[in-house]
Amino acid sequence: MASSIPTLMSGKSEVSLYWHIPFCTQKCGYCHFYVLPDKELLKAELLTGLAMEWERVAPLLGDKRIVSIYFGGGTPALFGPQRIAEVLSWIEQRGADCEITLEANPDELTPELLHAYAAVGINRLSVGIQSLDDTLLHTLTRRHSAQKAIAMVKEAAAAGFDNITIDLMYDVPGQTLAIWQETLRQAVSLPITHLSLYNLTIEPHTLFFKKQEMLKPSIPDADTSLQMYEAAVTTLEAAGLRQYEVSAFAKEGFHSRHNSGYWTGRSFYGFGPSAFSYWEGRRFRNIANLKRYVELLKEGTSPIDFEEQLSPEEQRRELLVIQLRLLEGADLASFTNAHGPLDSRTIKTLGELQEHGLLIAEGDRLRLSHRGRLCYDTIATELI
Ligand code: SF4
Repeated sequence: MASSIPTLMSGKSEVSLYWHIPFCTQKCGYCHFYVLPDKELLKAELLTGLAMEWERVAPLLGDKRIVSIYFGGGTPALFGPQRIAEVLSWIEQRGADCEITLEANPDELTPELLHAYAAVGINRLSVGIQSLDDTLLHTLTRRHSAQKAIAMVKEAAAAGFDNITIDLMYDVPGQTLAIWQETLRQAVSLPITHLSLYNLTIEPHTLFFKKQEMLKPSIPDADTSLQMYEAAVTTLEAAGLRQYEVSAFAKEGFHSRHNSGYWTGRSFYGFGPSAFSYWEGRRFRNIANLKRYVELLKEGTSPIDFEEQLSPEEQRRELLVIQLRLLEGADLASFTNAHGPLDSRTIKTLGELQEHGLLIAEGDRLRLSHRGRLCYDTIATELI
């Protein structure tokens, strides 16, 4: 499903849906998401909960146009084509051009399952490859091998998926620049249309957090990390995967419609335990407990356990910060027209970031410089 980045003005009634399917065959050492074991009973329970949550939320959608649906997790491919088909059958508002993404891991999808997912309407596959080096995959406690990952992407293409994105990870303990370059070299030979880069971060409540003293000496240093990022940009761009966001690369016409919504402030509703939503300026999250999630819905109660209403000023600042992730940057005149004026502190900080060479102004447009792309996190911290 090809798409381009929507502009801020392109249809206020466009929305996205996210479905959190939290099952995994085992928990990866670095994972800090809400994850449950892959059990039939739990999947049946989740489907019951999702159906009830949909009943509650569907009236909110009204006449809105659903432009993307994303099954994330966890590993949603473990939910099975029939359950995914059932969820999709509820969503009448989706148009024929709706981007429908399913996250999958390489060791879970057979050619038969790939065909089945294509048949139920999945038109974009997101494969969590992370690395094409077996030693690093072992370090990351991933179950698949590099060979399996390569085979699966090719099988997906053979099954008719013409929009496949993969995730790759750098800053992995034991990873050298040479290993990373080899992974990139192999990745660009795959039939993919999109690639997302992640650098490994060690989060609390993970196995890696417990082992961090042991892992730290083998994590690439800051200089190597920068070289890895630059190597990725060079290799991917040369292969026709053009960078359009700090960590996203796509072939012409294959920008992620779903993720582009996050960067341009489109409302999205998240279903399932621990799912986040951003809906008309309100941010909220469902309870991260499947049992309670279903119980609350059965009682007719909302499963939301955290919410905040951002002030218009906070909304504008956050949206600008997120939008600056896009390489095309933000057109401040259009931004102000659509969302109102920026506050004086933000304007002052934007000026300082330009003076430091991290942002570049071109007419009304403000975008990251090359150096700004390398330290986007610092820019975001300064602005927020
Ligand atoms: S596959 Fe993804 S969601 Fe599942 S445990 Fe690993 S990192 Fe977490």
